[in-house]
Amino acid sequence: MHPQPTGPELGASFIFAAMRRGFGGHCPKCGQGKLFQGYLKPLSACASCGEDTGRIYTADIAPYFTILIVGHLIVPPLLLTEQLAQPNLWLQAAIWPTLALLLTLWFLPRVKGSIMGLMWALGMRGHEQQ
Ligand SMILES: [Zn+2]
Repeated sequence: MHPQPTGPELGASFIFAAMRRGFGGHCPKCGQGKLFQGYLKPLSACASCGEDTGRIYTADIAPYFTILIVGHLIVPPLLLTEQLAQPNLWLQAAIWPTLALLLTLWFLPRVKGSIMGLMWALGMRGHEQQ
């Protein structure tokens, strides 16, 4: 178990460890229990340590960062391919949207888990303004 530090104990390594556990779909506190039931729905609590991870509300930040990442992975090779090879339009219309969809589906739960790990490490729950 990794107790949540506060104050000066809260360092970058602690934050990155929580984000790495979240990226892998595991509880940011213990790294053992699962973070999600199904694809994206957070479990109400960690089955291993009981941490209340289900109340971490990420809103739209996970799709935002997923779009940012996937866009940077898709657009440069797309433009480079067009500049160097000019493949048929139907081929590009088949490849790039499919690749973008697959990358989005792969990244979205991992980015959401990372954000949940970051928010957990910082003691944020996403309802601070309410
Ligand atoms: Zn846990």
